Amino acid sequence: MTNKTFFYVSSLVIIPAFFVLFFIARVLGRVYAIDQWVPKWDTLLMLATMIIIERIYTYKSAVSQKSVLARDVIANVVNLYVTGAVTGMIVLPALVFLPEHLLGRRLVLASPDLLGPVWFQVPVLLLSISFVRYWIHRLQHTVPFLWELHAYHHRVTDLQATNTLVSHPIDFALRNVVVYLVLGIIGFNPLALLIAVPASGIPGTFSHCGGDVKGGLLNFLFVTPEVHRWHHSAKIPEGYGYSCNYGVEFSFWDIIFGTFYLPQRNGVAIQPERLGYPGGGLPDETNYLKLLLVPLGLYRPLSWFRDVARLGRRPEGQQPAE
Ligand SMILES: [Zn+2]
Ligand SMILES: [Zn+2]
Repeated sequence: MTNKTFFYVSSLVIIPAFFVLFFIARVLGRVYAIDQWVPKWDTLLMLATMIIIERIYTYKSAVSQKSVLARDVIANVVNLYVTGAVTGMIVLPALVFLPEHLLGRRLVLASPDLLGPVWFQVPVLLLSISFVRYWIHRLQHTVPFLWELHAYHHRVTDLQATNTLVSHPIDFALRNVVVYLVLGIIGFNPLALLIAVPASGIPGTFSHCGGDVKGGLLNFLFVTPEVHRWHHSAKIPEGYGYSCNYGVEFSFWDIIFGTFYLPQRNGVAIQPERLGYPGGGLPDETNYLKLLLVPLGLYRPLSWFRDVARLGRRPEGQQPAE
């Protein structure tokens, strides 16, 4: 077997191996409450593994992300350790108390078994999570205010592990946190949640792996890096409106709703020429604060305060006019 064939064949194995190993690890991690010792250990380990894969299976059109590394690190820390906790604090009380107040009962069902046996609840959970996230993501491209927030994620010039979590915190919470909070209080069987929740988070994370890994037939089931690259293409494929491939974990929602795009040549997926802001309008932004505050209309007031503070500090040697 030549070197090239070996790399091609082995690159096909990466995705199923990653999915299976991390599914087992994440379930065991929950059983043994590893998060207690190293919070978010599973996401950190997934990102580290993706970085190693990027080093071995180098992508021919990779774009260095060194210039935005500080922004990436800040965005990762915020969305990994702050966004979920803050969203929970804001949304959970409303989710628990509003139905109780308005309907006179909690949203939580009396018995988890009302939703059917575990083997049935697992696919129901996976389909519900991915269906809701597909539509939230699609709305994030079509509703102007949501797009203002989501555009942040689309200014990256390449998919890499380091920018997996680069998103405005509100955009990130809407797509990645709220759905889990709602499902958590509906009253699914804890075992079904133990299986479905860790499983659902793996493809979405891996879809940002910048390595040259091939999806093969899995491209039509999961959102692989080959599929997600088209979602980040600077040039939107003709006839696809705002974007294509909105799915977060499963690509079949895109196939069902007519938004799937993955051209092939001899059975191998073709990849977009350039990634970046759709239409090529905006370059990537290194200033995290700008990305955080501009969509909320808060950056101008902040720079006004900064200008006032700067005016207060007169350049050295300059005397006040009398
Ligand atoms: Zn998007
Ligand atoms: Zn993305």
